Amino acid sequence: MAKIKNYDLICIGGGSAGFNAARVAAGLGKKVAVIDGARQLGGLCILRGCMPSKTLLYTAEILHHARHADRFGLRVTGARADMAAIHARKKRIIGDFARYRAKALTGGKFDLYRHNAAFLDAHTLRLSDGTELHGKKFLIGTGSKVSVPSIPGLRETPFWTSDEVLDLDFVPKSVIILGGGIVACELAQYLNRIGAKVTLIQRSPHILRHHSDEASTVVQQAFADEGIKLFAGTQLQSVGKAGRGVVVSFLHNGKRMVRRAAHLFNALGREPNTAGLNVAAAGIRTKPNGQIIINRWQQSSVPHIYAAGDCSGPVEIVHVAIAQAELAARHAFKVKRLKPVDFSLLLNVVFTDPQLATIGALESDLREKGVKHLSASYPFNDHGKSILMEANYGYVKIFAEPRRGRILGAEIVGKDAGELIHCFATAMAMRATVNDMLRAPWYHPTLAEIITYPLEEIAGKMGGHSAVAGIRP
Ligand SMILES: Cc1cc2nc3c(=O)[nH]c(=O)nc-3n(C[C@H](O)[C@H](O)[C@H](O)COP(=O)(O)OP(=O)(O)OC[C@H]3O[C@@H](n4cnc5c(N)ncnc54)[C@H](O)[C@@H]3O)c2cc1C
Repeated sequence: MAKIKNYDLICIGGGSAGFNAARVAAGLGKKVAVIDGARQLGGLCILRGCMPSKTLLYTAEILHHARHADRFGLRVTGARADMAAIHARKKRIIGDFARYRAKALTGGKFDLYRHNAAFLDAHTLRLSDGTELHGKKFLIGTGSKVSVPSIPGLRETPFWTSDEVLDLDFVPKSVIILGGGIVACELAQYLNRIGAKVTLIQRSPHILRHHSDEASTVVQQAFADEGIKLFAGTQLQSVGKAGRGVVVSFLHNGKRMVRRAAHLFNALGREPNTAGLNVAAAGIRTKPNGQIIINRWQQSSVPHIYAAGDCSGPVEIVHVAIAQAELAARHAFKVKRLKPVDFSLLLNVVFTDPQLATIGALESDLREKGVKHLSASYPFNDHGKSILMEANYGYVKIFAEPRRGRILGAEIVGKDAGELIHCFATAMAMRATVNDMLRAPWYHPTLAEIITYPLEEIAGKMGGHSAVAGIRP
């Protein structure tokens, strides 16, 4: 019988969480193994998540500008999506990223096993080729998978997930999208901009329901202006095949609606990918949906087994998965002066156009918790740089503590909001006040300088100064 190999840390999954836990533990001089059963190495972010989606969204944004070039006094004729070229470019870029990650995984800093793993007990894993590995500590980073809710007919009807949408090499004639979350909205706009007829059916009264109604209304308006058919506040009744396409029935404003399309895209969310791990054999507790229950140090109910990323939540965001995994690896090997991941600085970006980005507290959190705060906002359609860029959707809104003016949160909907929100990231990490931020230089004319207007307004409400006067056009 083959000898069982022993490791200080075994990471199950070589995605954002697993890879980064392994990297940190190897850097601490530990003997580490990474196990990943996927056909291609790279994880969700690189292969089928962040990177391919942002590659395609950027392409679609350029196409959108080309089609509306007359706004800028330009004549561009015949702008259209060449899907074979778009697909080839995406494959090349993602292939490069994946090769880079594979090189890091196979570079010799740790052992890599290309198999699926399941627990035999709290210290032993069996791999799909029968190999058994023994670990002192474990990091579970098995990610998430698309969920298929129990909607009559859904399981029997062929549907796309984000994997198929990101891999299209043709323009679909028409697509019905079920769901109104981040993935649904980003890819709805992509599909619409490359030329598909898009119908988005969403249960909550607004798309992007984790964001404020005010913010999601701006994105909804942009979608309506671009011709996306959006039904919010619906109740799905059934899904089925109709000839070579699909048919979806739902209730909307008390009326039964029926919509048909060539394709169906299930964007109803993802769930933790833990079913095949045999967590019960190790005594690991999970929520009913399979999410691994963790404490603030990423430890599961079995303290030497950690979890990070999509399989443990609470969010599906790459920089959070990395921070959790690094924390877990350091905690497992008793690195001193650690701090839990700070969710009071949660940064969230939706890559629609206009983008929607938030950091820290949302206004609804502050209201729910009864936290006293001052707020101010400023619209992009009254800001010089955005006006000259024809980027008029949205606003910047800031929340600050009333006495000292410490920034509690910010919400930006607008052109490049995902970049602009980073003006607040360092400031908030350093517990800056509105007056601290106003002391910084803000170049004119930039999109970023719009941030100074709500800052000034809050400073004014506090009886403070107005530091950057006189730069508005
Ligand atoms: C379309 C889309 C767009 C997205 N865009 C963004 C974005 O712009 N920004 C952002 O922050 N986040 C985005 N996300 C979310 C982000 O991709 C995920 O939060 C992140 O990739 C999760 O990393 P992870 O390490 O938890 O899981 P993964 O990267 O999925 O890694 C899990 C790994 O575990 C392996 N595995 C699973 N089970 C086993 C097993 N039993 N044995 C061995 N190996 C196993 C899998 O093969 C996989 O490689 C997006 C997601 C999607 C779907």
